[in-house]
Amino acid sequence: MPIYEYICLDCDKKFDALRSMSEADAPICCEYCQSEHTSRTISLFAAHSEGRVVAGAGNACNTCSTHHCSSCGI
Ligand SMILES: [Zn+2]
Repeated sequence: MPIYEYICLDCDKKFDALRSMSEADAPICCEYCQSEHTSRTISLFAAHSEGRVVAGAGNACNTCSTHHCSSCGI
């Protein structure tokens, strides 16, 4: 299973989770403060999104840095 990185929007700490791809965008609790106000980070986007993705905007492609590849279908 791939490791995904998440950021807590309440305490601003990052943590990793080993999850299946189908679970990647499912809600996850912060392992520091147990907040559910978390977001999956996509490191390739760090340059222009501060390394975080707004919760609920889970349509970003996992495998490339663009929104225009066959795997994301956008
Ligand atoms: Zn937290």
